[in-house]
Amino acid sequence: MLNVKNTMLDALLELIAPHLCSSCGAIGSVFCDNCKYDIVYPDEDFCWCCGNAYRGRLCDDCRLIIKEIDCLGARSGGLQNLIGGLKFQYRRAAAKRLAGLMLPIVEQLSNDALLTYIPTRASNIRIRGYDHMALIARNIQKLSGRQVCRLIAVADSHLSQHKLSKTARQIAASAAFHLTANSVSGRQVVIIDDIVTTGATVRAAAQVLRDGGAADVSVLMIARQPSTTIRQSVKIA
Ligand SMILES: [Zn+2]
Ligand SMILES: [Zn+2]
Repeated sequence: MLNVKNTMLDALLELIAPHLCSSCGAIGSVFCDNCKYDIVYPDEDFCWCCGNAYRGRLCDDCRLIIKEIDCLGARSGGLQNLIGGLKFQYRRAAAKRLAGLMLPIVEQLSNDALLTYIPTRASNIRIRGYDHMALIARNIQKLSGRQVCRLIAVADSHLSQHKLSKTARQIAASAAFHLTANSVSGRQVVIIDDIVTTGATVRAAAQVLRDGGAADVSVLMIARQPSTTIRQSVKIA
């Protein structure tokens, strides 16, 4: 249930309280310059999309839908705290910092590529008071000078993603998205998402874009869930 009073209070505190580094606690920034060097890349012995064991970032199955995949780092340590702060602790300043950290990767993307993002579900926007992915997208747009469009819409669901099994996530995700009015015909599209775990969400979004005529779809995630926490039942490819 949304507690409007607390949300407003948190938003106010976020504005007036000094920022503390999400990783080391130093005063001054939501993520200090020292801690950004602690961001680690995920191993490349599993598919960064679906999480199945694979030598390389993208398994043969995911490559049928997604052309390339990249990320800022593994979901751990300070990066995990920074995203968590934005999503669950009303730390809106984290959106700008995350966009800044993403900038070198965004600048390497083809100039022809159309950038978009996975929108947040309406139920989560109501709880947070903002769409954290739209905030990140807006900040990436401001810093990079490249437009980040909203190309896909998400149907709301009462099911919380993290409570669902992998198969249930795939079914829920495939029914969730539809294209907005913008045309993607013949375009290269890059989907930006915050955290990828089973890949069900980005795969479903990529499929909708491909069905809409996109020439190819790549994924740029902020944080990839490390393989060790998702691989228990997966065979080596
Ligand atoms: Zn720090
Ligand atoms: Zn895969």
